[in-house]
Amino acid sequence: MQHNLTIYNTLTRTKEKFEPIHPNLVGMYVCGPTVYSDVHLGNCRTFVSFDLIFRYLLHLGYKVRYVRNITDAGHLEGDNDEGDDKFAKKAKLEQLEPMEIVQKYTLGFHEVLRLFNTLPPSIEPTATGHISEQIEMIKKILDNGYAYEVNGTVYFDVDKYVKEHNYTILTNRKLEDLLNNTRELGGQDEKRGRLDFALWIKAKPEHIMRWPSPWGIGFPGWHIECSAMSRKYLGDQFDIHGGGMDLAATHHTNEIAQSEACNHVQPAKYWMHTNMLTVNGARMSKSAGNGFLPYELFTGSHPLLKRGYSPMAVRFFMLQAHYRSTLDFSNEALDAAEKGYKRLMTAIGLLDKIVPASQNKFDLDIQALRQRCYAAMDDDFNSPVLIAELFELVRLINSVYDGIQRIDEATLMEIKETIQYFIFDILGLKDEQSDGDNGTTEKLMELIIQIRNEAKKNKDFATSDSIRNELATMGIQLKDSKDGTLWNKI
Ligand code: AMP
Ligand code: ZN
Repeated sequence: MQHNLTIYNTLTRTKEKFEPIHPNLVGMYVCGPTVYSDVHLGNCRTFVSFDLIFRYLLHLGYKVRYVRNITDAGHLEGDNDEGDDKFAKKAKLEQLEPMEIVQKYTLGFHEVLRLFNTLPPSIEPTATGHISEQIEMIKKILDNGYAYEVNGTVYFDVDKYVKEHNYTILTNRKLEDLLNNTRELGGQDEKRGRLDFALWIKAKPEHIMRWPSPWGIGFPGWHIECSAMSRKYLGDQFDIHGGGMDLAATHHTNEIAQSEACNHVQPAKYWMHTNMLTVNGARMSKSAGNGFLPYELFTGSHPLLKRGYSPMAVRFFMLQAHYRSTLDFSNEALDAAEKGYKRLMTAIGLLDKIVPASQNKFDLDIQALRQRCYAAMDDDFNSPVLIAELFELVRLINSVYDGIQRIDEATLMEIKETIQYFIFDILGLKDEQSDGDNGTTEKLMELIIQIRNEAKKNKDFATSDSIRNELATMGIQLKDSKDGTLWNKI
């Protein structure tokens, strides 16, 4: 395969040429959501980033097995394998069965990712559906001497592991610093070492999600699920393992240790970590309570928002930053992204109206531009540079439409193909304004807004309210602003 894709590998802290273990076949595992509550916009950023990566690998012609799990068990409130199970706690709060909680938030997650136009993964395994694989792996780690059992709970023996391996290979942190940041073992502690973590946890009598195991009734620790599911579907060693940057220090560090202790190989060749979506510089997170729900963003119903933004405007906002840069949320940045997205879609809409000339007279080398687009994506999936290149094309399209430059039929086809590849297939954007109807929806909306404004002017509020409410039931949101009435579709 002819390409020069380079990927920044967290493991080596360098950009490396991408060379999959099996030619033309890529195995990619991405840590999925914990479905005890709605995903927030930060989570969505990570999944949109991996969607871009998935799409580009597909575009390059790879057959990709993309596995993204659903975490539906084993998430305790405390960092130290202690506290209540988050699923059981939420189930109590919402008076639902834990698996109803899982179903409710899994469906919500799928719907949100559908709105963001992400492609579904090839396999979406759940932790609860893979208990036996997790038990089998724990047994092997015990047999290999890297774990110990105390009173029905199995711990990973980090002290033993660090004697032969680099436990902090992913973050390069000093072991002493890690120890200094971990609390001393107390008298009640069953763990031998401060950094040891649970592979299997004995269930207290009130614990609802529980399974039989060789060590008694219990449930798996969080980290083991990803090791077991990636191993099952991608093998002991696969190409890409990804997730948000916040997962590197603990979850992924422990995954590497478990997999090495079980299979004697590093599980993934390339570790990829997406950077965080922040609000006023602070990481958006469930626990910090600064999480925007995607629907709050689409409808503008969050106190920090001036108005709503459509899913594609938000996707564009995310893609305008490189996946390894932080992205700070602000109304201004979203306004700019929406404007950029609309400029792009308007120009694409003009393509069908352009009448090709018999001769070319334009000043852009489209083949060279296309090469620069590939170069941007080959450079560790640099979507902001790609987007900047695509705006060169927007300028050309506008100029041809305005009669300033001329293009022939072949050039028009070349431009259309470039748009199809990079805007639709790779960036995964779609034209939500016209829905492929050449602007008819836009024009109809203008007409409806005009009728509503007339009604308001005539103090016929029954009509103006009914128009707003009817549109809302169709998922169309109106927002009156100083620039007139804006609309967006959820
Ligand atoms: P969780 O459901 O909390 O396990 O998170 C699901 C995914 O979202 C993980 O890959 C996290 O690393 C990622 N994530 C969490 N918070 C953010 C954030 N603020 N920005 C980007 N990704 C995030
Ligand atoms: Zn994981």
